[in-house]
Amino acid sequence: MTQQTAQTTDSWISFRESLRTAVSKSNWETWLSRLRPDYEDEQLVIVAPSEFHLRWVKDKHGDLIAHAYRTAFGSDGLPEFRVATPAEIGEVLAETPPAPVPEPAPTPGEVAAKETSLIPRYKFESFVVGQSNRFAWAAAMAVAEQPGAHYNPLFIYGGAGLGKTHLLNAVGHQALEMYPNLVVRYVTSEQFLNDFIDSIRRKRPDDFKHRYRGVDILLLDDVQFFEGKEETLEEFFHTFNSLYMAGKQMVISSDRHPRNLSSLEDRLRSRFEWGLLTDIQPPDVETRIAILKRNAEFAPRPVPPDVLEYIATLVSDNIRELEGALTRVTAWSALNRRDIDLDTAMRVLQDMMPSDEPTPLSADIIIRTTAQAYGFITDDLVSSSRRQPLVLARQIAMYLCRELTDLSLPKIGEKFNRDHTTVLHSVEKVKRILRSDRAVFDRVNQLTQDLRKGGGLSTG
Ligand code: ADP
Ligand code: MG
Repeated sequence: MTQQTAQTTDSWISFRESLRTAVSKSNWETWLSRLRPDYEDEQLVIVAPSEFHLRWVKDKHGDLIAHAYRTAFGSDGLPEFRVATPAEIGEVLAETPPAPVPEPAPTPGEVAAKETSLIPRYKFESFVVGQSNRFAWAAAMAVAEQPGAHYNPLFIYGGAGLGKTHLLNAVGHQALEMYPNLVVRYVTSEQFLNDFIDSIRRKRPDDFKHRYRGVDILLLDDVQFFEGKEETLEEFFHTFNSLYMAGKQMVISSDRHPRNLSSLEDRLRSRFEWGLLTDIQPPDVETRIAILKRNAEFAPRPVPPDVLEYIATLVSDNIRELEGALTRVTAWSALNRRDIDLDTAMRVLQDMMPSDEPTPLSADIIIRTTAQAYGFITDDLVSSSRRQPLVLARQIAMYLCRELTDLSLPKIGEKFNRDHTTVLHSVEKVKRILRSDRAVFDRVNQLTQDLRKGGGLSTG
């Protein structure tokens, strides 16, 4: 219910004006300009279009907003906030709820209307930020706000289901929202290849060139698909150069570091490293719970926190599977017209329960977990860098591989790109440190427990 008086309208205008002049244009357009006033008993309530939006503006601009509010409304308190209701947004839901099943393929009409072919629900608003993806997210935001200006290309790599496709699309949506005239093209590497082959078959190479070299932003997903495809790689190399020279933004995803794209020629590999390389790690338990909470907001029946926590412990390294588990639970409760509780959730997801047989630990898991515990990524640990505290983390990872797996010293050495004498030396060194350094002892102890429990990092 909006009770608006001439005076509050004036106050709101001057409030907005002071925000607008205090932040950058992109910040204004993306975040602050989208706040709306509502008045309850003539008391201002600031309405944000989504939960995420609200969190963001309070987080980043809370002080600024409070100050502008006091000045414009002559109040000495703090403003109230809330999220817009679906009706206020004007559509059923401005942010489409996550689809429980794979999205139907767009009809030809939709494809034509959306030449960018961005996936509608993969936006920044629906992307939950945590330790594991913060860096990739921040880089993606920077690129979206000023395409071509910061990192070119932005190269995002990480395992399946960790949000790469989501981030690539979010860049496209965000950039288009701020600069509607940009030409943005999201394409999987497979599509790029098919387009390329098609253009050769139809003898229309210029169409292809125009399609890919005439864009302002190219979002290329799953570039590992190009491995071993010589001609496509050659063509992509030229596409890359052309876009790069023209200052056009590229965002590229891959399931692994360019270094591990073995069939790539060095000239392309090195180009991938010209801009910014960033990985996405599996989400920690808080992030998993936050993602589930966010998805559960759209569930037909409430999902209690203990159920969300349970699901978060069940699935740890693939967000797609995490969402799938929640979907199964909410689908069950909708089908049976019953609220969900922990017992039922456990029954519904029985097949996902870890078996009694402990899964054998792999060196990869140990390396990744140790890297994460020390704030590094796997690639750091297996690199040749000799700086501290990386060296200590690497030695500890070698020690843990030795203690927790059946791998031979040479096999462990292979994992770290080192020979077996280095591994042996490291293992002995760590044993000595464990006897003298309390902090290292505690850390190694915790890591051992976490790894034995199931390969994840403790968050306690
Ligand atoms: P990838 O491309 O890395 O395999 P996707 O981008 O397809 O992964 O993500 C898999 C699913 O998980 C998608 O439904 C996506 O929306 C969701 N997802 C991934 N990361 C996040 C995140 N940080 N917050 C919310 N949802 C996420
Ligand atoms: Mg993907």
